[in-house]
Order: sequence, then structure tokens, then C-alpha cells
Amino acid sequence: MAQIKQKAEKKKRPRTCVGCGEESPKKALLRVVRTPEGEVEYDPTGKANGRGAYVCADPECLKQAKKKNALSRALKTAVPDKLYEALALLIAEKTDGQTGTD
Ligand SMILES: [Zn+2]
Repeated sequence: MAQIKQKAEKKKRPRTCVGCGEESPKKALLRVVRTPEGEVEYDPTGKANGRGAYVCADPECLKQAKKKNALSRALKTAVPDKLYEALALLIAEKTDGQTGTD
């Protein structure tokens, strides 16, 4: 008797970085969400309601995302420069932490 394997993966959308287009584990990606109110913001919880897009915690990916306007396209709305700046800061902080004492 063959058991039918149910593929739950079909429902899951892969989380791909809008900068480099690669799939990454959720932790390594920053989520940006377009809220139901139409605001675009960084989502530190990864659970906020709305349409989400992901970018690696990597300055290069952020740069690419901005260059290609990839976040705007993924979210289908304009992404303010401020948000890119905020993400850049976040990434810088993360990278700083890694090269510190450990
Ligand atoms: Zn990336």
C-alpha cells in the first residue's frame, strides 16, 4: 500500500532575497512588510500582517534591491528611501556584532 505523501511545501512560498534572488533561511533575511494600511516597514517579528518581501542581512543585497527597485516591485508599492536607510543601519549593526568580541 502506497502512502500518499502530502507535500506541505507546496503551500509555503520560498523566502527569497529580492536583492540576490537566493533562498535563505528565514533568520538570515530581513522581512519588509506592506501593512494593510499601506505603510511599508521593517518587520522584526516576521509575522506582521500584510504582504512581505525579504532581503538578506547583507549590504550588497540591500544595494541591489534598491538599485533594481526590487522591494517596491515585490510589495507593489513605493518604498521610501528612509526604509532603505533603516535597513542599512540594521544590517550594519548586525555585522558589527559579528566582528566584535566573539
Ligand atoms: Zn540576498
